[in-house]
Amino acid sequence: MCDKKNVLIIGGGLGGLFTGAFLSKENCKVTVLEKNTIIGGGLQTFSRFGHRFETGMHILGGFKKGGVLNKMCSYLGVMDSLKIVELDKDCMDSLTYMEDGKTYKIAMGRENFIESFASEFPAERENLKRYVDKMYELTEEVDLFYLRPEKDNFFLHSEMFLWPADKFISHFIKDEKLCSILSYMNPLYGGVKGHTPAYVHALINVFYIEEESRFVGGSQQLADALADVIRKNGGEVLAGNPATHINVEGQQIANVEAADGKRYEADVYISAIHPCSMLDIIDEHAFNKAYRSRLREIPNSNSAFLTFIVFNEKTFRYINHNCYYQQDYDMSWTHGEYNDDTWPTGFLYITPPSKDGIYADTMIINGVMNFDDVEKWRDTKHGARGADYDEWKLKHQEKILDKMEQLHPGFRKCIKHVFSASPLTFLDYYNTKDGSIYGYGKDSENITYSQISIFTKLKNLYLTGQNVNLHGICGVPLTAINTAEAIVGRNVVLNKINECEANRG
Ligand SMILES: Cc1cc2nc3c(=O)[nH]c(=O)nc-3n(C[C@H](O)[C@H](O)[C@H](O)COP(=O)(O)OP(=O)(O)OC[C@H]3O[C@@H](n4cnc5c(N)ncnc54)[C@H](O)[C@@H]3O)c2cc1C
Repeated sequence: MCDKKNVLIIGGGLGGLFTGAFLSKENCKVTVLEKNTIIGGGLQTFSRFGHRFETGMHILGGFKKGGVLNKMCSYLGVMDSLKIVELDKDCMDSLTYMEDGKTYKIAMGRENFIESFASEFPAERENLKRYVDKMYELTEEVDLFYLRPEKDNFFLHSEMFLWPADKFISHFIKDEKLCSILSYMNPLYGGVKGHTPAYVHALINVFYIEEESRFVGGSQQLADALADVIRKNGGEVLAGNPATHINVEGQQIANVEAADGKRYEADVYISAIHPCSMLDIIDEHAFNKAYRSRLREIPNSNSAFLTFIVFNEKTFRYINHNCYYQQDYDMSWTHGEYNDDTWPTGFLYITPPSKDGIYADTMIINGVMNFDDVEKWRDTKHGARGADYDEWKLKHQEKILDKMEQLHPGFRKCIKHVFSASPLTFLDYYNTKDGSIYGYGKDSENITYSQISIFTKLKNLYLTGQNVNLHGICGVPLTAINTAEAIVGRNVVLNKINECEANRG
């Protein structure tokens, strides 16, 4: 169906590049317009003080043999070029609660995951089994999660699928402390009490229970590999060339203007940017007021405050797992509720793979932050935000370092360089609403409101990326399949991925 179609994709992040790569394999001539001079969006890395840092893709899953990402990347021919290391199977995550100073170690794999909690809460062993079994059952309701050809069964989900995740957990688990602990991956999907659906909790948890891994050398390698697929198949990826205006005639896009002064015409257009950013550049008459208002009003996930550290040589041990810190047990669902005194109530820190694997070269600390905190500097530019902003940023960086010193006495002495990024960085880099790191949040209270379709009223415009379905490495590549198949035909890409896997044996 797609043969020789010209496809223009706005946004060269995970969503735009995966969708482009799939379509380029279907003989489409793909052009990607990327705003930044370096492609990748959340996959983008940057270099500072001689070290490479990731901006937004730290924890991977699905890349081991048989995993969905492994299958997709093998089909695209990029799997062998990716350098990925699995985290410690016996402890993929550690959770430390300052309230009582206790650290829990969580092991990889379904049975081990259950045992990690059951050994601490023996009375809940059977409940834990039932809870984890149910999470796996919920994921079975999503064919795409297992790369199964999709049936016509939308909206035929079990009742629990759309329960709020916190209600889902406490349905199985009686111990309140354990309920909080089981929500520890909340920062990975911006979980909100009473709103985040159980299926989001289940998909993310099961995805990572099966495997947690990291890129060796940073996530840029995936962006570059996907761009290579597009180029090898005759397409182009144009970095530093934002789409500046989308011209609409009648019920379809006529062309897209870009910063290079050209008008790009295509048979099909895909917006792989935040829908609100798309609204900013598309002719107002493209969509009716109700759709525009809805896109602007759907709540977004939180933003973040990231602290990047370069260690003095051989001073801080490499940690082959993700470390979650939380002040109190009952704060799992309220990371976004804080004041100047209580921030940060929790954060996640990781040491990316290092040169010798024994000592860490760098660390990234990721704390939840609301855009409101930096609203007054919204219209300032990077490097010229003013002394008050620099002071504010330093103060927050110090708060993070104070906590790290509590967690690892002597931490400050290991630091050679430290710098931070605030929600303004995410606003500027990704052009995402209010610097939201995961885009639209899903709401179990009103799922049809918060769920947007890949199809739009314009017959030649499709959407892709983290705002459409699930975010992250777990969700965005799957949505890329949906978007590509909206153009080339249902299950066309899925079947080819599965055929490729079958041939690999
Ligand atoms: C701090 C942080 C930590 C994260 N940690 C993880 C993690 O550990 N694991 C995980 O799986 N996920 C993680 N994520 C989420 C993950 O990075 C995102 O879900 C994913 O990268 C989103 O991909 P996307 O293509 O939808 O959007 P993006 O990556 O934001 O891509 C959109 C692209 O569009 C470009 N763009 C915007 N406007 C225009 C325009 N007008 N013209 C042209 N281009 C434009 C942007 O520059 C950007 O490159 C994290 C995100 C952040 C920010």
